[in-house]
Amino acid sequence: MACDFCLRDVDTVDAELHYNVGLGVTHIEGGTEQHLCKRCIRTAFWVYQPVNLTLGWLSIDGFQKNGEMVRENFRAYAMSSRMSDGRPSTRPPAPEVTAPEVTASAPRPARTGF
Ligand SMILES: [Zn+2]
Repeated sequence: MACDFCLRDVDTVDAELHYNVGLGVTHIEGGTEQHLCKRCIRTAFWVYQPVNLTLGWLSIDGFQKNGEMVRENFRAYAMSSRMSDGRPSTRPPAPEVTAPEVTASAPRPARTGF
């Protein structure tokens, strides 16, 4: 399924990321709830989470509401770490491990003493 934001055809997941700006007795909140790819989840996380961690606590209900948003954003970020980002792997393929070759050898000569 294609990502709702960048439209790339890669792995996507339902993700919710939010921001909250506390303004004393009120607050402004927003965010996104879409099928997002790993790259878009991480971009949204790094845009919203610094706002939550700095301005989110500045309202009366900031600790409860903002705390939930911070946890939800971390959950979405952790979930994205298990997703493929659609790029081919840059790691070289693992070397193929094979058992050492067993060959029949000639019997050892018997010891003859000193
Ligand atoms: Zn995307």
